[in-house]
Amino acid sequence: MSEFDLIIKNATICTMDLNGRTIDKGYVAIRENDIVRVEEGDVPENCGSAQTIDAAGQVLFPGFVDTHTHIFQSFLKGLGADHRLIEWLNLSALPYGEYMTPYQHRLAAQLTCMEAIKSGCTTLCEFFYTDQNPELADGCIAGMEDTGIRSVFIRTFQDRGEDYGMPSCMIQTVEKAMEEVARLRHDYANRGDMLSIWTGPDVTWSTSKEGYRTMLDYCLAENVRYAMHIDETEVDNDMCQKNYGQDIVPMLDEMGFLTDKMLGVHCVNLTNDEIRRFADNGVSVSYNPVSNMYLGSGAAPIRECLDTEVTVSVGTDGAASNNTTDYLESLKFAALIQKGFTRDAARITASETIAMGTNGGAKAIGMEDKLGSIEVGKRADMFLFEPRHLKSIPMHDPYATAVYSSSQENISTTIVNGKVVYRNGMFACGIDERNLSDKITCELGRLKIQMERS
Ligand SMILES: [Zn+2]
Repeated sequence: MSEFDLIIKNATICTMDLNGRTIDKGYVAIRENDIVRVEEGDVPENCGSAQTIDAAGQVLFPGFVDTHTHIFQSFLKGLGADHRLIEWLNLSALPYGEYMTPYQHRLAAQLTCMEAIKSGCTTLCEFFYTDQNPELADGCIAGMEDTGIRSVFIRTFQDRGEDYGMPSCMIQTVEKAMEEVARLRHDYANRGDMLSIWTGPDVTWSTSKEGYRTMLDYCLAENVRYAMHIDETEVDNDMCQKNYGQDIVPMLDEMGFLTDKMLGVHCVNLTNDEIRRFADNGVSVSYNPVSNMYLGSGAAPIRECLDTEVTVSVGTDGAASNNTTDYLESLKFAALIQKGFTRDAARITASETIAMGTNGGAKAIGMEDKLGSIEVGKRADMFLFEPRHLKSIPMHDPYATAVYSSSQENISTTIVNGKVVYRNGMFACGIDERNLSDKITCELGRLKIQMERS
């Protein structure tokens, strides 16, 4: 029997550890799910490994953590284009989310997760808010698991929102929603850290004050993490002022809702006072730069968050407001928007951007002890970056090349939990891209007929 299950040798290793150590040429050894060696130089001759990847000329990075997407929207790329948020929701996500079947959710999950894996993601957080039928959640989770990606399934709830166009099948009492969260936590309890179940209110205008309170009590009692869309556009504060006479962040703060279990998504309109409240309570941020540009929402105050020691991660958001799940593209936007909107090229660096995508993501989901860097004792979640493509050569600095001069063709290999899930254009799960595309086109036809009939 070999000492190791997998060795990646001759790679440049961007460890993304606390010291930001880069190893010019070294190797990483993996046993079962974990990194057991990270060393400079050649692999000693007495090291046996079941599988060895010679990564000469390539760069090894920790896997990216996509902290926000909506998987079903992979069916909706381009729908509702060029419309403002509430109009866009009513043209794309809400009507389609009402009619999709469990099988369609599964296909959408395969598509989303495969695209994520192909752009260096090893963990993906699904923010699930469609029709509340439990079979749809199971369909989505099955599709995520099919691909081998590490998953966070966030089963959110809406207990109001008809006045903003929320379909009635997406609305249920918070008590019923927490029962379903408990059901998912029970049914998938044996997945270990490959699948985590969270919850959360969807958006401000679809959650009652009672809903926030009941969900918070559940999460604190059961040690469950939660996420919510917050301060994406001015609608959040307008609605909150209308109903409660307060802006959303101060209101949540008063309720004790801002905790270190919370991931705030978008955060475009956070004020300095609200950033301080996030920092004081350990709330993390999911920055969704492409979606924020697509929907004209604006540029989130990311430098201010980082300087106040708020943990910042990066999400793609759903593919109906992006319109892909290409993580590398989101990272480029993540950096450029900060520079362009402040007219300051030094506003954020390439290595800070990679850090948001890796250890920022790990911390934002409460898994910084297991993910986010290439270090002994952590899970073996990582990808190999092949710079020898026209878009990327020559490579002077691996961080700058990965952020500014990259695309999916640079990702040669993605490893999750010690297993190679993608290598040289092939997915280990055996799903063929063209075949999946044909199935989705066929299902979209069915979905449109169903929607026309209703
Ligand atoms: Zn979203």
